[in-house]
Amino acid sequence: MKIIGNGSILTLDENDRFITNGAILIDNGIIKEIGETEELRQKYPEAEFLNAEHRLVMPGFLNTHMHLYSTFARGMGLEGAPPKNFKEILEKLWWKLDKNLTTEEELYYSALVPLIEGIKVGTTGILDHHASFGFVDGSLDILEKAAIDAGVRSALCYETSDRCGKELRDASINENVRYIRKKKYTDTSSTLTATTFGMHASLTLSNETLEKCKKAVEDLDTGFHIHVAEGIEDVEDSLQKSGKKVVERLNDFGILGDKTLAIHCVHIDENEMDILKNTNTMVIHNPQSNMNNAVGVTPVLKFFEKGILTGLGTDGYTPSMFESAKVAYILPKLHNKDPRVGGNEIQQMLFKNNRKIFAKFFARPVGIIKEGASADIVMLDYFPPTPFNSSNAFYHLIFGMRDHMVNTTIINGKVLMKNHKLAEIDEEEVMTKSREIAKKFWEKMQNA
Ligand SMILES: [Zn+2]
Repeated sequence: MKIIGNGSILTLDENDRFITNGAILIDNGIIKEIGETEELRQKYPEAEFLNAEHRLVMPGFLNTHMHLYSTFARGMGLEGAPPKNFKEILEKLWWKLDKNLTTEEELYYSALVPLIEGIKVGTTGILDHHASFGFVDGSLDILEKAAIDAGVRSALCYETSDRCGKELRDASINENVRYIRKKKYTDTSSTLTATTFGMHASLTLSNETLEKCKKAVEDLDTGFHIHVAEGIEDVEDSLQKSGKKVVERLNDFGILGDKTLAIHCVHIDENEMDILKNTNTMVIHNPQSNMNNAVGVTPVLKFFEKGILTGLGTDGYTPSMFESAKVAYILPKLHNKDPRVGGNEIQQMLFKNNRKIFAKFFARPVGIIKEGASADIVMLDYFPPTPFNSSNAFYHLIFGMRDHMVNTTIINGKVLMKNHKLAEIDEEEVMTKSREIAKKFWEKMQNA
């Protein structure tokens, strides 16, 4: 049992409460009570006391689309001419990288590094989309081990694809099914990890594969996690394969639904938006990745007009939701040449929608400070220079809060970082080991 006291608590709850000098009682990983510091301390004298010293205390950030496996691409040079479009970025970088991930160590450390970096910037939950075509069977168990060792809430899946042949396609399907069954039937005790069924994107999925995936989840009560119309190439491919747009094609195969994550949706039309809305499919926006790949601007404001549940992710570009939110906030303004637009929508994605999306994967609420929610909480060295309240908190975040201000990170009631120092993990040791493995990995990629 512990009490976080003397905090300025931004609850993000239904009543948007902001409590100055507030306290939170945590028991067994769950928020049990919220009140005044002295009152809770008197009531629970045996509880360990964590003094927030008037720091900002708020729910941890949730990343609704991540690729932990992307770590070893950091700083890696590419041979030959630089990729000139999205398809070439996939072929020359990502598909080459994921095929060369062949060892348990590579998978473990490429996952552990961004998980740790996430803790340092207050990211307490991620929905990951994994690919390692050099190591498919059991890959999700290795990611799970990294997530549990780091202590970070994670929903895992494997990117099923035809791009490496039928044998590895089938292995990817099996890996998803195996891990979903494990989480559903044999490993129900861990609340830190969850799962869904992963698929790469329409452009690397044949009709036969889409059918197989749908059939594989028949009795599993799960949705899919899939890239949708990220680059124009996905649309062209879908039209060629089916005469239909990507969302229509996926809908025909029963891939959409209220548990399915449609990632990106940069190139979709009104009709496709209506299908997403009518099937209650969730959409995830990843602005930095879209800009970096030069694929286009996702029409997020339109998604809100249509009432599509839209969340915010990072697509492996960064472990930081501060970065993603800040870019998401300014992009629609520039794109529409209108400084009035985007604020409300991006705030809703970060503060409300991401937690609604997490609720599809985790039984206990996260992304909110209220009784009964998981104790996934961050403390920031943010002492606002101007009045702060729940209605302007988002604008303080955009213009005032930064990654390095995250002082303490708690997940499932466990203090993972305190005063900027990781409590459980030797960061230097992990980074040293990661550099060693990455060096060998780069050599392997060069010789491949
Ligand atoms: Zn992605």
